[in-house]
Amino acid sequence: MVFAVTHVILTIVLVDIFRHYLSKHKKKYLFPRWYLIIAGIGGLLPDIDIVVNWFYSNVIHGDFHLFWVGLVFFALAALFWKKKKHHVDWGLFFLLLGIGWMFHLFLDCLGGGYKFFLPFSDALFCKEWIPSLYFPHLDAVILLLWLIHEEWAKKIKDYF
Ligand SMILES: [Zn+2]
Repeated sequence: MVFAVTHVILTIVLVDIFRHYLSKHKKKYLFPRWYLIIAGIGGLLPDIDIVVNWFYSNVIHGDFHLFWVGLVFFALAALFWKKKKHHVDWGLFFLLLGIGWMFHLFLDCLGGGYKFFLPFSDALFCKEWIPSLYFPHLDAVILLLWLIHEEWAKKIKDYF
């Protein structure tokens, strides 16, 4: 299990890189910056089973790490694509939630993974590519790189 900071920040950074450097069209971004938070929430959402476990001990960590939930978010994105209501593009909202969700599973897969394909299969398909010993260091490096990027690209010290 990769740590929360890694899930949130890495998801936000990757979607922000896409938004900032790849999706600029005629000097205009494809979507406002606040959607990055939605991607970050999606990036953390599968770990909600930890919070549920505080109240309902039958739920164990990994229970919500289900591949099909990401597919449901993508289906909702297709269903609501280009449908704006109350200034929210719900298609984009669900797409980013799905991307965050799937990226969470990918990162956890690098750390050994869970039974992502329940209830269809209880097989573990992941190998522990990154030993959990490195997760705290990974968090620190990602946080530092993100802060450097924010300062470099968005001049965050101007806000202090
Ligand atoms: Zn997880």
